[in-house]
Amino acid sequence: MLRLPRFRYLRPQSVAEAADLMAEHGEQAMLVAGGTDLLPKMKRGQMEAEILVGLGHLAELRQLERSDDGGLRIGAGVTLSQIVHDAALARLYPGYVRAAALVSSPALRNAGTIGGNLCVDTRCNFYDQSYEWRMAVGFCMKKDGDICRVAPASKRCRAIASSDTAPAAMALGATVTLVSSAGRREVPVSALYEDDGQFYLAKAADEIIESIQLPAATDWSSSYVKVRRRGSIDFPLAGVAVALKAAGPVIEEGRIVITAVASRPLDVSEAAEPLVGCTLASLLEGQRDELLTGVAASAARPAKPLDNADLHYVWRKQMTRRGVEQAVREAATALLARSA
Ligand SMILES: Cc1cc2nc3c(=O)[nH]c(=O)nc-3n(C[C@H](O)[C@H](O)[C@H](O)COP(=O)(O)OP(=O)(O)OC[C@H]3O[C@@H](n4cnc5c(N)ncnc54)[C@H](O)[C@@H]3O)c2cc1C
Ligand code: SF4
Repeated sequence: MLRLPRFRYLRPQSVAEAADLMAEHGEQAMLVAGGTDLLPKMKRGQMEAEILVGLGHLAELRQLERSDDGGLRIGAGVTLSQIVHDAALARLYPGYVRAAALVSSPALRNAGTIGGNLCVDTRCNFYDQSYEWRMAVGFCMKKDGDICRVAPASKRCRAIASSDTAPAAMALGATVTLVSSAGRREVPVSALYEDDGQFYLAKAADEIIESIQLPAATDWSSSYVKVRRRGSIDFPLAGVAVALKAAGPVIEEGRIVITAVASRPLDVSEAAEPLVGCTLASLLEGQRDELLTGVAASAARPAKPLDNADLHYVWRKQMTRRGVEQAVREAATALLARSA
């Protein structure tokens, strides 16, 4: 049985106090919300912290409220299960809700939070092992070692982005509010990530995600397609988030984000440009199949899966293309149903 190492748990009474504690304890401290990613990683020696600053109990992080522009502000401590069971959310942001529903299992979704999901660690077959296993084969640069065991010539870690909700949020044009003892700032979700499996977050370690803002979804629909070996539990091996906007029966704008095929979710929305001006019906009735195949091929081109996850990496890239086709069709179907 793997045991948790010793640590001190601090229970702040507010986000502001949590921010002060993070500033006070610096590199010794890490934030913990549901603990479903961090605690197993501490057991396996992948992450170390002498102090955990708890966020899961803070009521101010569990608010879900409409914003003035018709969008939605979701506190970072809202659990994935709350998102999944919110019928109004599912109508407005079906791609985001599906992404949350496809995370892990019901028990982990009951504990896992939206904020923790955005910060979930990158994954790699060589790294996601016990400390003893990694010591036996030799540590790698993501933790305790100095070379990459998947791509030894690589100057950086190639572990893969593994959050399901991050690409869905990016496709919706979502932003996050970050709070630290230095102040508060709002950035697009896309600005949270670096293309580096080791240093995968672009925010400072002491910045707390307070909330995520989803813009108004009028005239938009969305979808999320996830590839994994088993129908539950597994992390994404390829993922595609699509959001489409239509003016009546005609597509006006499209966004595509692919994930689990690089160290950060990749915004490949330029690939969606040929969809602009297509009617939803022509896309769904098969008259624009060639165009859709072209869009999917362009969207999947930047995918660079490596042999460091389950299932063959070439197949994962192929499935990214298929995922784009499926997600575009699903978003278009929802828009057509709405316009009828
Ligand atoms: C068996 C298993 C299967 C899983 N499958 C999936 C999956 O399919 N898809 C998926 O996306 N995830 C999966 N996960 C990972 C995890 O359960 C989810 O990502 C969950 O949403 C993480 O949320 P949490 O609150 O538990 O995060 P925690 O474990 O508490 O924290 C995760 C990280 O986020 C940081 N953090 C937490 N909250 C904040 C905040 N408000 N501001 C700043 N930093 C913060 C922590 O410091 C830590 O680095 C799986 C985990 C397990 C154990
Ligand atoms: S990609 Fe390389 S450096 Fe990164 S976790 Fe895997 S083996 Fe380690």
